[in-house]
Amino acid sequence: MLLQLNNVLKTFGGIVAINNLSFEIKENQILGLIGPNGAGKTTVFNCITGIYKPDKGSVHFNGKDITGLKPHIITKLGIARTFQNIRLFPSMSVAENIMAGRHSKCRQTWFDSLIRTPKYFRDEKENWLKVKYFIDLLNLSEYTSAIVGSLPYGIQRKIEIARALASEPKLLILDEPAAGLNNKETQELVDLIYQIKDIGITILLIEHDMDMMMSLAEYIIVMNFGEKIAEGIPKDIQSNPQVIEAYLGSE
Ligand code: ATP
Repeated sequence: MLLQLNNVLKTFGGIVAINNLSFEIKENQILGLIGPNGAGKTTVFNCITGIYKPDKGSVHFNGKDITGLKPHIITKLGIARTFQNIRLFPSMSVAENIMAGRHSKCRQTWFDSLIRTPKYFRDEKENWLKVKYFIDLLNLSEYTSAIVGSLPYGIQRKIEIARALASEPKLLILDEPAAGLNNKETQELVDLIYQIKDIGITILLIEHDMDMMMSLAEYIIVMNFGEKIAEGIPKDIQSNPQVIEAYLGSE
């Protein structure tokens, strides 16, 4: 198993956001997390990536207990994520944004000088080649020097994924990657996620687009009110009466 959550509890004051949640992700699997608004999905991502520390329970990644570790340590160990709302540096170029995702792989002095004088970036051949690889993988080469804030939303979504990949994670966590995309962009995203899997990366995603989730995920965990109410392959999830009542029926 690459990732294991064991009996994770996370509360905010009187609100139980995640209640005694356990699930696991196999290496190179595409695992989907679904559930109604407020079910606790993003809180799960935040507990895995170190933004929140669970009140109880544990998170193990790649054989190591990562419960409560700081986000930058968890990134270094091989988990990268994107956010529900895009979080890029709008006044920087596409290359600089993706390079920023490599900070866990760079010498700090090099990274600092890079932020002050981004042109030095191209001199660091190994890092540049990695960034270039992800720019090409995401079909972004024509935008390499473009300022991110000026680009369409669908392109910014791809830049965010490229930036997450730039840290060369073992596990990529995507929070509603199809939100705001049109049908063509969503299909491109599906193809891209398969390509990412093909290079050996494990994928955990939240997605409200059920057609996309059912065609993409190999296994699905369903949450409601902070608890896991079902898990299984998409075909079984789609016909599970409890899931239909809690979530799919209301779509
Ligand atoms: P959505 O699909 O709308 O993004 P979600 O399934 O991701 O929802 P969470 O955002 O994890 O749900 O929220 C789960 C519960 O925890 C909600 O009741 C939410 O209001 C609460 N919650 C989440 N983060 C916080 C916080 N920082 N402070 C207080 N309550 C929070």
